[in-house]
Amino acid sequence: MPGLLWLEWERCSKGYSICEPVPDFFDIGKDREVDEGDCFLKQNSKKTVNYRPMEKFPGLFMEFAHTEQTPAGVQRFANRHGLLWKLFEEMDGQDPVPIHQWCRYIRQMENAVELWEKQRESGNIGDLIQVFSEQTELSVVMTTEVRVQADICLRPVDDPMRAALYLRPRSLHGAMWAQLMEAMADNAQLRRCAQCPSWIVYGSGTGRRESAKFCSSACRRAAWKAEKESRK
Ligand SMILES: [Zn+2]
Repeated sequence: MPGLLWLEWERCSKGYSICEPVPDFFDIGKDREVDEGDCFLKQNSKKTVNYRPMEKFPGLFMEFAHTEQTPAGVQRFANRHGLLWKLFEEMDGQDPVPIHQWCRYIRQMENAVELWEKQRESGNIGDLIQVFSEQTELSVVMTTEVRVQADICLRPVDDPMRAALYLRPRSLHGAMWAQLMEAMADNAQLRRCAQCPSWIVYGSGTGRRESAKFCSSACRRAAWKAEKESRK
């Protein structure tokens, strides 16, 4: 079942490194400890790889919510998926979002997912739907800076007389929030891949069995290989 969301995104082909902020004028010459949270990510190369996160990672918002809230955790996420927003030329490959802000965004998604899980257990996600249908106090707490902006567009399909309607979010960050909303609307079932940080959407209409353990055949093979190695 193709989702409504479509996004083409890029990530640096050589990954990202953690760089210290440029010191303030008054700090120059002083031996000041730099807080890790004030550091930024920087592209290791100008070369980028394009990919479609919504198609490739239908449970990306879950991976984000479970990302370790540390510089290393943020770096690992960016190496796999790129930055949360598009970089502008003049930024010279440096992400304008400091690590502590990334961690805050992760925490917001973690809170939303936790609430979703809690409400599902109770058998009614009405309160949470309310959060996303209007600006409630809870939505302000969870998603202060998240404005999911998206363009509505058409894409060609196999039939030349038809087209498919898509929502194209403007950023990876917004796309993950939209993905959470789509998962809520579908009452999607999700599980972490037994081999990598990806999440699998499974159950009826998804093309994946309820017993699916791996996100891809590559992960299934890797797990099989590891199992064989451990038996030696
Ligand atoms: Zn996997």
